[in-house]
Amino acid sequence: GAKEDGRGRYRVFEDGMNARIQARRSLEVDLRRAIARQEFTLYYQPQVDARTGAYDGAEALIRWHHPERGLVSPVDFIPLAEETGLIGPLGEWVLRTACTDALTWPANLTVAVNLSPVQFRDARLATTIRGILAETGLPGSRLEVEITEGSLLQDEQRTLTILRELRTLGIRISMDDFGTGYSSLSYLRRFPFDKIKIDQSFVRQTPEDKDSAAIVRAIAMLGTSLGLKTTAEGVETQAQSEFITNEGCDQLQGYLISRPVPLEAITALFAGSSPLALTA
Ligand code: C2E
Ligand code: MG
Ligand code: MG
Ligand code: MG
Repeated sequence: GAKEDGRGRYRVFEDGMNARIQARRSLEVDLRRAIARQEFTLYYQPQVDARTGAYDGAEALIRWHHPERGLVSPVDFIPLAEETGLIGPLGEWVLRTACTDALTWPANLTVAVNLSPVQFRDARLATTIRGILAETGLPGSRLEVEITEGSLLQDEQRTLTILRELRTLGIRISMDDFGTGYSSLSYLRRFPFDKIKIDQSFVRQTPEDKDSAAIVRAIAMLGTSLGLKTTAEGVETQAQSEFITNEGCDQLQGYLISRPVPLEAITALFAGSSPLALTA
């Protein structure tokens, strides 16, 4: 009858939920141990100058080599790290490691680090970053931070204070995933950005999709008008690269140039010339 079906369905739902809660708990326990066990590593994806094809630097992207689960995507564990507060120590580890690694690259190259909105809840974030620069010896001008709209939705005064302090250290500030948020345009006016990263969802559909192409063109023009650098992320094809470069974008990042790779591989890439470098 209907009653039985209802109970049955409820039980299935409850079991499913318990399983999910347990899986999450065990992942959380593992996450707490992972830093000490050195299970995290940073991969790097190069960013190139759109006009010359030369390397400008690389974005650091975290990877978790879980002993049983294998490679866990940041999309799956960053939210958990944020909910549990583990993003604090994890984010510091990312910054320290990225700054240390960047020192082994040619001195004109920068490293970009993603910051979580949760890290911005700590008013001491800029002080922590200043300490990491001092400790590692990386000049602030070689560090970029990538932030998303989530960081700007919080206490505006605190975020502004942190961003201004970062800029006095010479650190550049990028707005990641631009175009996907609710009021990206007003944020560009209210916060001190140096760079806009055009979200991959637009880049991926250019040049074929007319609307995406128009959006990429508009963002590139916006960047030029506001004096901000623009980077296209998720560039996979030569056609995308050409279209985006013609529209006046400053920087390219994506599988066309390279997938994210371990430190040894990015160091080797940086020792040679980029696949897009002009040879003339
Ligand atoms: P994101 O910062 O927007 O990074 C770009 C993502 O796009 C990366 O995924 C990168 O591997 C992927 N990607 C780059 N080029 C291409 C391409 O041509 N095609 C395709 N299909 N994908 C491309 P990943 O490494 O899985 O990172 C996902 C997200 O996780 C990042 O998005 C960022 O929001 C977050 N994340 C990664 N590392 C960190 C970190 O150290 N700290 C924090 N807070 N978040 C991080
Ligand atoms: Mg990013
Ligand atoms: Mg992005
Ligand atoms: Mg993203």
